[in-house]
Amino acid sequence: METKTLNILFVEDSEDDVELTLSELERAGYKVYAHRIETSELMQQALVDHQWDVIISDYKMPRFSAEKSLAVYNQKNLDIPFIIVSGVVEAEDVVYLLKQGAHDFLNKNFLARLVPAIERELRDSKVRSAQRRAEQKVSILSLAVEQSPVSVVITDPDGVIEYVNPKFESSTGYCLEEAMGMHLGFTIMQDAGEVNLGDLWHSIREKGDWNGEFCNLHKNGMLFWEYVNISPLEDENGNIIHFVSVQEDITARRSYEEQLRIQAHFDDLTGLANRTLMIEKLNHAIEYSYQNDISMALLCIDLDHFKNINDSLGHMVGDELLRQAASRLASCTKKSDTLARMGGDEFVIILPRIEENNVIQRVADRILQQFSKPFVIDHHDHFITASIGVAKYPENSKDPHVLLRNADLAMYQAKKLGRNQCQFFSEDINNLLNERMAIENALRGVELRNELTLLYQPIIEKFTHRIIACEVLLRWCTHDGYCIMPDKFIPIAEECGLIKNVGEWVVKNACEDLHLIHRTLAPSLKFAINISPRQLQLADFAHFLGEQLDEYQIQAEMIDLEITESVLINDQVETRRNLEILCEMGFNLSIDDFGTGYSSLGYLQKYPFKKLKIDRSFISQIEDNTSNSKLTETMITMSHSLGMQVVAEGLETSEQLEFLQQRHCDLMQGYFFSKPIPLSELKTLLKKGNHSNVVKFIR
Ligand code: C2E
Ligand code: MG
Ligand code: MG
Repeated sequence: METKTLNILFVEDSEDDVELTLSELERAGYKVYAHRIETSELMQQALVDHQWDVIISDYKMPRFSAEKSLAVYNQKNLDIPFIIVSGVVEAEDVVYLLKQGAHDFLNKNFLARLVPAIERELRDSKVRSAQRRAEQKVSILSLAVEQSPVSVVITDPDGVIEYVNPKFESSTGYCLEEAMGMHLGFTIMQDAGEVNLGDLWHSIREKGDWNGEFCNLHKNGMLFWEYVNISPLEDENGNIIHFVSVQEDITARRSYEEQLRIQAHFDDLTGLANRTLMIEKLNHAIEYSYQNDISMALLCIDLDHFKNINDSLGHMVGDELLRQAASRLASCTKKSDTLARMGGDEFVIILPRIEENNVIQRVADRILQQFSKPFVIDHHDHFITASIGVAKYPENSKDPHVLLRNADLAMYQAKKLGRNQCQFFSEDINNLLNERMAIENALRGVELRNELTLLYQPIIEKFTHRIIACEVLLRWCTHDGYCIMPDKFIPIAEECGLIKNVGEWVVKNACEDLHLIHRTLAPSLKFAINISPRQLQLADFAHFLGEQLDEYQIQAEMIDLEITESVLINDQVETRRNLEILCEMGFNLSIDDFGTGYSSLGYLQKYPFKKLKIDRSFISQIEDNTSNSKLTETMITMSHSLGMQVVAEGLETSEQLEFLQQRHCDLMQGYFFSKPIPLSELKTLLKKGNHSNVVKFIR
């Protein structure tokens, strides 16, 4: 027989009665740990000290009783079988004690019922405590649902609401009574677009549950977002009896995400779409054009000389101008177009669905027209124009990036052709770019490859025909036999920063040649060296020139530095510093190509220019164009009044010479006297004309 153990607390005054009970239990196979007490205090103590399976109490004891021991038992809130074992007791007393919480009453003279009674009570007590635990669990769960920080909705199998928790009531503004009987999702904003309720129920029936994000409408009209998880509740046979929807408010997260989206897709300054969003829209527009077999166009718009505004008037004015420019551009577009700011002063417009070609031209004309009016900032008028490049889908490319590049190239072409205009992309522009890239690549390290040479073109005095100077002109002949003229490669070298090395090579080699000429042939001959605006922006440019003077023992006065007007117009701090230092060192400054740029006298007064060179385009037309001859005359008079000598560039005919001599032009340079020649030829020329320290030009 299997031994079962029992811990029994006897509330009993008689040791014998305990023994009697114990022997009954032992007979039934129980091993009993028994403890006997007969006072209230000891009972209290025993209940604290030990865990009991059963309490067996006598009805009446000298110092205690079943009634009192039941009171202790009840006070402790215990659920252990409490059985009274006693002699004969009145029936109503028994009933009274059973009502007080005793589980059974046995006559000590008939203990046969003891074991079954204990076993039954133990079983019942087990059931009772399981029930109690279950009740506790339910009450905790229902508290959790009631106090949950997220909304909980319970529906019937058809999605009709049976219960909503207080959080749902506060989130939606609908109380339990209002929500009951409604369909789950009655607060969803159907046209917020992300969720289709039909799909939702379909998915729940197919996959068992669903989660996603809803936009809801609060009873008061406010919108809020929720992350929703809907899952079914099944009975033991697997039938769906309810759906539980747990809904978490994610409005704060959504608005943060929205903010991030705006930051990632829109430009802070102008509020326009940024590059990322523009590329997205361009992809869509191309896709749409492809599907519908229609054209679209991309316009790249760049403000002309915006940098000048930013540099001279500061970023606040620059920013305001960009904002105003953005709104003028916006006024030229339709709702279906996309206007974006790509960064800096560069904007892009996508024109989807182009049905007739002149639509693009009309938009471009409207933009140019918008920019013809001044921008008023702080009561000051600022004039700024725009250059526009256009590329069309599918003619100019089907790839968004190539299309963008092509529109950009067309825009550069518009700049090159004088700005304030619109250019359409063409294959010619593409070829130009490819050529440009080839030149840029070949230019790298050119000064180390022995491909550069210098030519010299004499500058001659009006009446005496003395060679007083030579302009240093650079030539690039590649090892594979190409000769590239400076007009072509100098601008590229400037743009990609290679001008520093190329320019230094020119200065160094010119100084070396001049040193030789001074020593052997013409000690007072000057060299005129062309200096690019970019070189003047280099911090150590003046220092470099000084080093060359020292190395080749040349006086600064022997060198004219030819600079163009753009240097003066852009007027950057570093340029100004360099020019001031160069003037202090004793270099002479010449203004080159005068008449082709701004031709502003004001600029000429900023620095002590010694010479002004009238551009070849004027000289070549003085014979047959009266306005050009008038202008040339004015330029000469004006230069003289400012104390400058005038050099006429590109003199080719004796008529031009005569005209210029009559107008007192001081110096002449041109094919009429000599083309640019190599050093060896220059030496021969100088030898020929050298006569008692004066070098005359002799053919
Ligand atoms: P530039 O400084 O105005 O130089 C005068 C240009 O006119 C030279 O062209 C010269 O060859 C040309 N020329 C002179 N007389 C006549 C003439 O009678 N008829 C015609 N048709 N042309 C004449 P080149 O050598 O092609 O140089 C072009 C430009 O390239 C120069 O214009 C100058 O701005 C730039 N350049 C040349 N060498 C250098 C250099 O070493 N550094 C920099 N930064 N620029 C240079
Ligand atoms: Mg020059
Ligand atoms: Mg020139």
